[in-house]
Amino acid sequence: MAENPAPLEPLDETWERALCVVAHPDDMEFGAAAAVARWTGQGKSVVYCMVTSGEAGIDGLDPDACRAVREAEQVRSAEVVGVDVVDFLRQPDGVLEYGVALRSVIAAEVRRHRPDIVITGNFRDTWGGRNLNQADHIAVGRAVVDAVRDAGNRWVFADQLGGSDGLEPWGGVREVWAFGSPEATHAVDTTATFDAGVESLEAHAAYIDGLGWEDWDPREFLEGMARAAGSRLGVALAAPFEVFPMGWGE
Ligand SMILES: [Zn+2]
Repeated sequence: MAENPAPLEPLDETWERALCVVAHPDDMEFGAAAAVARWTGQGKSVVYCMVTSGEAGIDGLDPDACRAVREAEQVRSAEVVGVDVVDFLRQPDGVLEYGVALRSVIAAEVRRHRPDIVITGNFRDTWGGRNLNQADHIAVGRAVVDAVRDAGNRWVFADQLGGSDGLEPWGGVREVWAFGSPEATHAVDTTATFDAGVESLEAHAAYIDGLGWEDWDPREFLEGMARAAGSRLGVALAAPFEVFPMGWGE
């Protein structure tokens, strides 16, 4: 950790629609849920897309039983922060592969929801220290950035277009934001919505219980990260993001 971490710039909040694409139920809640609560409170539309249902996430629970538990927890967790739409792509948890197949299912989501901003989780190799990131997170984040570009090109995944779904190319995504990134450049003030973010994480009760982390407190955990980002933004609590412009001129 640097002694004087660089200041973070305020995120652009002039958008109307965001699509959040993450690998697992609970990913959004480990760093972005309080920001989502702020944005839905401003009247913005935010949709969640879970690439997997986190069915391999609880050691003592068979995936077929786990899938339903975790999807239900995610739906509840989303409601807490004002998100009414949660799509589950039901790709295989733990063994996602970056590639054309993954880009295709994510591009279809981008074409379906036509967002201004796409949010995903950290897809760098680490979290900033020596803790390595997880394979699904890296595969999804890389695929998200590529799928945003794929979605705007009518000749890529052309079979998705014009069918019964009525999908059309969508090139309107301005930026991709990755929360939890050690390369964060921007942040948003979450002081007023921090409690909703905590409640949203706590909605993953079966998952948190299954982790078996003794004396682990969701509030304390989230507060540590939010205070560190807040001090870099000049507010009490904040959520940090790495920003990837999707134009070609920057
Ligand atoms: Zn995850």
